[in-house]
Amino acid sequence: MKDHDGGDAAPLPLVPIRSAEGAWLEDFEGRRYLDAVGSWWTNIFGHRHPYIVEQLKQQLDTLDHVMLAGFTHAPVVELSERLVKLAPPGLSRCTYADNGSSAVEVALKMSFHYWRNTGKPGKTRFIALENGYHGETLGALAVGGPSMYRDTYAPLLLSPIHVPSPDCYERGPGESWEDYTRRQFQHMELALERHAHEVCAVIVEPLVQCAGGMRMYHPIYLSLLREACDRHGVHLIADEIAVGFGRTGTMFACELAPPLQYGTGAKRGITPDFLCLSKGLTAGTLPLAVTLTRETIFEAFYDDYAAGKAFLHSHSYTGNPIGCRAALATLDLFEREQPLASNRLLSNLMWTQTAELRAHPHVAEVRQQGMILAIELAKNVHRKTPYPAAERRGLRAYRHALGATKDRGVLLRPLGNVLYFMPPYVIAPREIEWLAQVTLEAVRAATAD
Ligand SMILES: *Cc1c(COP(=O)(O)O)cnc(C)c1O
Repeated sequence: MKDHDGGDAAPLPLVPIRSAEGAWLEDFEGRRYLDAVGSWWTNIFGHRHPYIVEQLKQQLDTLDHVMLAGFTHAPVVELSERLVKLAPPGLSRCTYADNGSSAVEVALKMSFHYWRNTGKPGKTRFIALENGYHGETLGALAVGGPSMYRDTYAPLLLSPIHVPSPDCYERGPGESWEDYTRRQFQHMELALERHAHEVCAVIVEPLVQCAGGMRMYHPIYLSLLREACDRHGVHLIADEIAVGFGRTGTMFACELAPPLQYGTGAKRGITPDFLCLSKGLTAGTLPLAVTLTRETIFEAFYDDYAAGKAFLHSHSYTGNPIGCRAALATLDLFEREQPLASNRLLSNLMWTQTAELRAHPHVAEVRQQGMILAIELAKNVHRKTPYPAAERRGLRAYRHALGATKDRGVLLRPLGNVLYFMPPYVIAPREIEWLAQVTLEAVRAATAD
C-alpha cells in the first residue's frame, strides 16, 4: 500500500501506539518515539496539550455537534472572527470542511463558480505547479503535480495546466534562490498569458512543496504571482494546509512575500483570493479545515434564491463544534505562548545541529524554512544524482532511526531520498540535539554501501 507521503510501509511491521504526550509517542512495550514529523505535520503544540484537552472536555460537556445549515453555534462564530483577524488582510469569509483535501475542493469549486456567476463561464481550468501536492480527492489530486499519487488516476482527473516548479534544489551552480525563482516564474507568466481566458485560478503551496520532498523556493515568487494573477484576472489559491500556523516562521507563509518595489514603503505579505488551512489548525488533535476568501467573492453568491447563484457545498460535519473548540484553543496558545518567537531559537538550533550532516558526502543539500528542515540524500552530491528509488535509502534511514536505542527511537518518515524535521513546537533543545545525532547515524547507515 502506498501512503500519503509516498512511503510504503508494507514490509515493515506496524508500530502500535498506546499513548502520546508532548513530542513523544509510546508503544505497548513502553518504547518511546520522538515525533520528529509532528504526526504528518499536524501536531504543533505536542500531543495531549493540557490546555487543549481541558477545553475539549468542556466543549463535550456543552455541545457535541449540530448541523451548520440554518443553525450556528458559538465556537464556529468565534473561530471565524479570530481567523479573519489573523489571516492576511482582506480575507473575511470562512467555509469549513473536515480535511485539507476538501478545503482545496471548496476553493476550486468556489473560484469556478464565482467566474460563472459573474459572466465568465469559459473559465474552467486551473494552473498548478509541478511537484505540488494538494490532497487526494479527485479535484485536489488533479491539481497536484504529476506524481505517483496522481498518475494511476489520470483518466479520472481534470486537466490543469502544469507549470515548472520554482523548487530551488534545481537551481544552477552559483545561482541565488531569488534569481532561480524569478527565472522559473517566467513559465508561470507565459502560462497566464496563454491561458488566462480559460483559467479560474492558480493554486500553489506557498514556499515549501511539502509532499513533493520539502522542496523550497524564494518568497519573491508569491509577490510576482499575486501581481500577475491580478493583471490577468485569475484567482490565487494559497494552500497553506501544511505550512500555515507558524511552520515557515510567520503565522502564514504568504506574510513573507517581499514588496515588488523596494523603498516605496510597501509592506511584506500578499493576500491570496483563497487561503486553505487544516493540519495545524487544531494543533493535530481533530480533523477540521477552512477555506477563507474575500468579501467580493462571497458577494457573488449572495442573491435571491431564484437567481440560483448559491454555493452548493456542504459536509455533514461542517464546522463541528469540538473541532472548532480545538482550533480556538490552538489560537489561544499562539497568543499565550508566543511560539513564533521561541521557534526562532529552535529553528536556529536545528540548523547548527545539522552542521555534520551538511558535510556528509551523501547529503546534497540541507535546506530550511522556519520549523521545516530537510536533508536531501544523493548518490552523487556534485551532480545531484539521486539514489534510485528502488534502493530505498530513506526507508533504511527510517528503520535505523526507529530503533535508535533500546528504549527510544525517532519517527522520521522520509519522503523518498529526503529526510526532514517538522517537529512540534514544544520540542526541547536537547531533544533537537539528540534528533540531529540520531539522524546523522541514520544517514551514515543508509548510505554506507
Ligand atoms: C496534507 C495536505 C493536503 C491534504 O490534507 P488532508 O487533510 O490530508 O486531506 C492538502 N494540501 C497540502 C499542502 C497538504 O500538505
